[in-house]
Amino acid sequence: MEKRCGLLRRLIVIDSDIAIRPGVLYVIRKTLGLLAVIVTDIGRGVEQLGEMIAEAGVIVPFTGAGISTECGIPDFRSPGGLWTRNRPIPFDEFVASRAARDESWRRRFAMETTFAAASPGRGHRALAALYRAGKVPAVVTQNIDNLHQASGFADDHVIELHGNTTYARCIGCGLTYDLGWVKERFEASGHAPDCATCDEPVKTATISFGQAMPEDAMRRATELAQQCDLFIAIGSSLVVWPAAGFPLMAKNAGGRLVIINNEPTEQDEMADLVIRHDIGDTLGPFVGN
Ligand code: NAD
Repeated sequence: MEKRCGLLRRLIVIDSDIAIRPGVLYVIRKTLGLLAVIVTDIGRGVEQLGEMIAEAGVIVPFTGAGISTECGIPDFRSPGGLWTRNRPIPFDEFVASRAARDESWRRRFAMETTFAAASPGRGHRALAALYRAGKVPAVVTQNIDNLHQASGFADDHVIELHGNTTYARCIGCGLTYDLGWVKERFEASGHAPDCATCDEPVKTATISFGQAMPEDAMRRATELAQQCDLFIAIGSSLVVWPAAGFPLMAKNAGGRLVIINNEPTEQDEMADLVIRHDIGDTLGPFVGN
């Protein structure tokens, strides 16, 4: 529940550390009796985020599709996003239906020009700069586009909760394949190929709805959320679970939480700082653009 200026004088009493500023919305956090700060003024957002980054020892960024929209890759839930065009194909359907596998690969190849042309945006580059500076041990991402690796993170320091769409994997034996191998067979036969070793279906190395989460990535993301002192959720609608549980986990473990998103999220009230603004414009100043 957001309370505008009429309440601000009284809110000062709730938490005297917060100086009330113009251009900032304050939210009463009912359970804790504290204030969440929602910054709509970009200058103030950058300034406050800079202070929190400077104060933090270990920062864990948690990214969603919104960090890649400025790179030309549409997200799921924004207007014009992928879900407005295609119903997602759940894992069970992919396994059970050849037609679903064909459709899934047809969609993937239709996106290939977009994925292949994308390069890291200002958000990715800012996080990579913090990584190089030793403040960020790893990035936890829901994204499947490989752009954190392209921005300079070592593969092992990108915790992919939902996998990676830039290569394929057999769902039976786990053998990995280049997309080129799949495409060649798809174009020759008109159908999605099965594994050359075990005959099980080959799928992009992503996690579909209904598919088991990757255990190692979940374990590492849990450790990072619990150990960081600043957790920054960037460009995620925070509605896809269990991934959406990590901001709360970090908060419960004593970390500060920042949410950067141009739309409200259901978790804004829990955050210490919400920057309701464009990601590139917010993080760009940290890398000089
Ligand atoms: P989402 O589409 O549900 O949410 C994206 C959020 O980012 C939205 O709340 C939107 O308001 C915000 N946003 C978009 N552009 C922004 C910008 N420039 N500045 C500030 N905010 C912006 O995405 P999600 O929460 O990551 O979850 C959906 C699933 O979609 C994930 O599992 C992910 O694997 C998958 N996905 C990934 C990609 C990718 O890898 N780039 C693209 C589409 C979908």
